[in-house]
Amino acid sequence: MSALFDLTGKTALVTGSTRGLGFSYAEGLAAAGAAVILNGTQPATVQAAVERLQSQGHRARGFAFDVTDEQAIEAVFSQLDREHVEVDIVINNAGIQYRKPLVDLELAQWQRVLDTNLTSAFIVARAAAKRMIARGKGGKIINIGSLTSQAARATVAPYTAAKGGIKMLTCSMAAEWAEFNIQSNAIGPGYILTDMNAALVDNPAFDSWVKASNPSKRWGKPEELIGTAVYLASDASNYVNGQIIYVDGGWLAVL
Ligand code: NDP
Repeated sequence: MSALFDLTGKTALVTGSTRGLGFSYAEGLAAAGAAVILNGTQPATVQAAVERLQSQGHRARGFAFDVTDEQAIEAVFSQLDREHVEVDIVINNAGIQYRKPLVDLELAQWQRVLDTNLTSAFIVARAAAKRMIARGKGGKIINIGSLTSQAARATVAPYTAAKGGIKMLTCSMAAEWAEFNIQSNAIGPGYILTDMNAALVDNPAFDSWVKASNPSKRWGKPEELIGTAVYLASDASNYVNGQIIYVDGGWLAVL
């Protein structure tokens, strides 16, 4: 049974993995046997995250690039081609959030959130899938959605639009790439304790609301997302395609 979840011999690229959920996904895939490629915008924090995983005995390396930068992404994949490194698993995790009422939102802020949370997944997955198709060995694309892939909240309109887009981009990838044995799925995390939510955790009204509205009565922890990521990256999910799995403590179930 455990062989179903074994990622030995696989290479996984996790974007936005210097900390938070991305680091947890990378740690989980590495513990399941994968060699992992980490990413973030700052070389120093990417290197620190790589060293953290290496110190645990995992195979890790990193590339600092902005996931909205198409040329930088192509350069990374070209370098991996030259080194004959085949990326088998991609987790499109990098993301940002602005909290601002729609009427006050600037176009540049809207665009930046769409580019970072949605367009990046297209650019990175396209580079990976082209190579997976050419190799003919299949692969796994895991896009990171959110509760907002399903339910809107006030003040996060571009984030919600991007995460809703992630859901249907994932379906589109499944529609086009399933015949090449590439499974494209998404994870929709609930409210998880990471830097992205630091200000919200410190806001007593928001903290109380999260706990009251969730049947689990608490925030989620990054490590509670690992099992779903390993499942979607592994042979255990080979006939699962175009799905979004919400890991939210039951929040959407009672909405
Ligand atoms: P964090 O803010 O804690 O971490 C974000 C990560 O993304 C960092 O590693 C950051 O690296 C990286 N990053 C940000 N912008 C870019 C960019 N342009 N290019 C490359 N890397 C970038 O976020 P979380 O861990 O909380 O969230 C991760 C993902 O999960 C996001 O897509 C988020 O929308 C989603 N999510 C999170 C939820 C939560 O409750 N935390 C709930 C639902 C979804 P650096 O700063 O070093 O560049």
